[in-house]
Amino acid sequence: MYLKKIMASGFKSFADKIIIDLTDGITGIVGPNGSGKSNVVDAVRWVLGEQSIKSLRGDGAMTDVIFSGSKSRGAMNNASVTLVFDNSDHYLNVAYDEVAIRRRVYKDGTNEYSINGEKCRLKDISEILMDTGVAKESFNIISQGKIEEIISSKASDRRVIFEEAAGVLKYKKRKEDALNKLARTHENMSRVEDIIKELEERVNPLKEQREKAILYQEKMSELENIEVALIAHDIKEINTKYQDDKSRIEALNIEIESLSTTSSSNETKVLSSKVEISKLEEKIKSLQLDLIEKNKEAEKINSDKNLLIERQKFMTTDSKIHNELIDLKENKLKIESEINNLNLELNNNDSLINKSRKDVSSYESDVSKLKNERNKLDLELTSLVRTKSNLEHQVEHIKDSIDNNSILPYAVRSVLDNPKLSGIYNTIGNVVNVDDNYMVAISVALGFGTSYVIVENEESAKSAIKYLKDNNIGRVTFFPLSVIKSKNIDSDTFSLISKETGFINVASNLVKYDKIYQSIIENQLGNIIVVDNIDNANRLSKKINHRYRIVTLSGEMLHVGGSITGGNVANNKSVITEKYELEESIKKLNNTLDSIKDIENKINDIDNSFRPIEDKLYLAHKELINYEELGNIKTNELRELKGKLEKLSSNISSLDNIKNDSVTKEEEKLLNDYYKKIDEINKIKNELDNLTYTKDSLKEDLEQREFTIKKENSIYSSKSKELKDLEIELNRMDVKLDNLLNKLSESYSMTYEHASKYYHLDIEVNDARLKTETLKRSLKELGNVNLDSIEEYETVSKRYEFLLNQKEDLTNASNTLLSIIEEMDTVMTREFASTFKLIEENFSTTFKELFKGGNASLKLTDPDNLLETGIEIVASPPGKKLTSISLLSGGEKTFTAISLLFAILKSRPVPFCILDEVEAALDEVNVDSFGKYLKNLQAKTQFILITHKKRTMEYADILYGITMQESGVSKLVSVKLENI
Ligand code: ATP
Repeated sequence: MYLKKIMASGFKSFADKIIIDLTDGITGIVGPNGSGKSNVVDAVRWVLGEQSIKSLRGDGAMTDVIFSGSKSRGAMNNASVTLVFDNSDHYLNVAYDEVAIRRRVYKDGTNEYSINGEKCRLKDISEILMDTGVAKESFNIISQGKIEEIISSKASDRRVIFEEAAGVLKYKKRKEDALNKLARTHENMSRVEDIIKELEERVNPLKEQREKAILYQEKMSELENIEVALIAHDIKEINTKYQDDKSRIEALNIEIESLSTTSSSNETKVLSSKVEISKLEEKIKSLQLDLIEKNKEAEKINSDKNLLIERQKFMTTDSKIHNELIDLKENKLKIESEINNLNLELNNNDSLINKSRKDVSSYESDVSKLKNERNKLDLELTSLVRTKSNLEHQVEHIKDSIDNNSILPYAVRSVLDNPKLSGIYNTIGNVVNVDDNYMVAISVALGFGTSYVIVENEESAKSAIKYLKDNNIGRVTFFPLSVIKSKNIDSDTFSLISKETGFINVASNLVKYDKIYQSIIENQLGNIIVVDNIDNANRLSKKINHRYRIVTLSGEMLHVGGSITGGNVANNKSVITEKYELEESIKKLNNTLDSIKDIENKINDIDNSFRPIEDKLYLAHKELINYEELGNIKTNELRELKGKLEKLSSNISSLDNIKNDSVTKEEEKLLNDYYKKIDEINKIKNELDNLTYTKDSLKEDLEQREFTIKKENSIYSSKSKELKDLEIELNRMDVKLDNLLNKLSESYSMTYEHASKYYHLDIEVNDARLKTETLKRSLKELGNVNLDSIEEYETVSKRYEFLLNQKEDLTNASNTLLSIIEEMDTVMTREFASTFKLIEENFSTTFKELFKGGNASLKLTDPDNLLETGIEIVASPPGKKLTSISLLSGGEKTFTAISLLFAILKSRPVPFCILDEVEAALDEVNVDSFGKYLKNLQAKTQFILITHKKRTMEYADILYGITMQESGVSKLVSVKLENI
């Protein structure tokens, strides 16, 4: 490769376009001072990417290189230089045989680069020229006055040209870049470390706060699950009791009212009995007075009669007969009176006998009624006890079956019962509760799904399946909670059908379950519609184009697409039907127990009322017997008296026949009057007896009634007390229900319906209360909780992790950079050492050849540090002692520098080399040596020489002259070598 052409226009003094065609040998450029020769060197360096205007001998901006105008020419608005390389040997690593690199700058400072007319970046040019030995700062361009610098510069500065020759500058540059990068990396690292430190101070407290917050949330959620379930349970319990108490209050009100009615009727009766008794007493009193009066009257008549009879004794002829007759008559009257009295008594006794008989038969009928009743109840009780024991047995049996999951397939049971498997919850059938009305529909809707097993996640299912396979137990369908998604009826369909006749609800809304199973339940039941009957089901299914399954309350299923399944569901036993059966059986058992209690109470009541009625019956019997006996006695007495009377009557009539007038009419009258009185007295006595008996009965009845009233009053007050207590209790429950509902809505924003549907206690109520208290206590003990810390920790810890990773990346990057630097140091040391060695050897010979004798060598100032060592030049021209370089003459210095330059060119040849008046200080002999040496080197390197020396010009293959004919504008003229 060689530089074929330099074309410039508007660059410095080259206002007009010049084209310098160069030879691959030695091209000389000559011309007077200030004609613009050095501008050619500047032009070349400028194209190669020179960015320093000072290096280009300007002092302002890069636009200084644009032709600034002269007396006769105006300034130009851009400068452009093109270097054309012959690349037929493809020394430059591009496909072209000729490579034209152009740089242009405009007045506004815009730079433009191009390669073969294609616009490019400076970087692209640098890349093409990299490692070619062609560079703006390379030793292949030695500007005017720079050659001495090689000698006069410091040992440490001098190493640059050796580095250039060794090709380590690019490594140095790269190392510099790497060091810059390393510095930036360390800067970043320390920044990252600062932030990490800062985050570390935050992350640990945040972690603690987060753990506390998570614990708080866990406990809160546990509390919610238990407390809500507990509240729902309490509300249900209290409400049931509330309703029971309310019914009891209603019943009590009725009982109290009826008690007060009977009591007031009893009181009225008591009052009227009392009035009656007092009336009777008055009547008795008046009769007693009457009796006294009558007795007095009888006594008077009796004394009159006795007086008269005594008097008549003396007046009658036969007093004996008189007396006898009187006695007989008196006896007869007495007996007649006694007979009258007995008849009265017998009448009374008869009515008493009738009354007693009535009592006896009434009590007997009561007793037999009670006995019948009791027998009936006994029979009922026996049958109920039998039913009870059957139901108990049935309940036990179903419970057993549910507890042991007997209805489930063996494989499902094996999975549920295997304690080694984890994450196994239960079957779908076992986690739902269904109201009686929907039992059939839900059982059909779930179908085989009742036996599907809910598991925590896919891992749990996998290990359960492995267990089934390993033990050859059969197949089970698993529903992992972490995977199964809810299904539902789309909202359009729902709003379309929800108002239709017969629509009940979506199946998932008709079951109760713990909300953790929501996705599974909705997966199985969320897209099934429950409808009342098959007609409505058919109509609805058509309406929604058979897109969802519909199930009826009696168990018909309309499938997607329109097919229908129906028939008897009673045989399709499932966990749900079992649960339903259990509930039904428990209900029946409780009803039976209630009935047994009822009957026992009734029997007890009957047994209690038996005694008094039997006592009454016994007494009535006894009374009847007494009355009957008395009646018999009195009838006998009457018969006897009647016999006596007959005898007396015949005695009297026989005596009357003997002495007819022995008893006076007066005596007769008095006797009759007296016994009439006696009859009246007896009548009164009888009436008194009757009245007294009635009064006593009334009194007895009154006492009985008063006793009943007293008893009823005590029942009334105990029931009133019960009523009052219940009303207080009802109020208390009202308040408690209000409190519980408020707690649900305020603490958990929940309705009772929601709570009771989704929250269920799975532990004992007392344990749940204890657990709630414990949880509340431990939540309180947690103190202040920062819930935001969970999210904050997430963000901060993510950032912390990110920064830790970044720190690691930076450390890795730093290590990589260090190893790159180390590698480059090794390469640089190696390259530098080998190049230095070569140059040193060549320098010694070049010097000797140029100076025709003498000695020269190079010395490292710090041989142990090849990366930084300076280079001393030791030179002793012929006949002179090795001495300090500063003591050499100007020409000697230049010539030594040229020796070194040539040594370098020998060691590391470059494609072209521009030398601007390097030989200016040399004498003719040395210029000659210089020229000859150039000729030696030109085979490997193209030379462009800017010179004033004719001797030098002689060595050039072509010669160009630069003139400045028109003031301020350089022109190129060809110079004939012969002329020189
Ligand atoms: P010598 O032999 O003394 O080294 P030379 O031939 O190398 O001289 P240069 O240094 O190349 O001369 O050219 C300097 C000339 O270029 C000066 O006359 C200067 O005015 C002119 N020059 C430099 N920059 C510009 C510019 N931007 N516009 C116009 N002329 C310029």
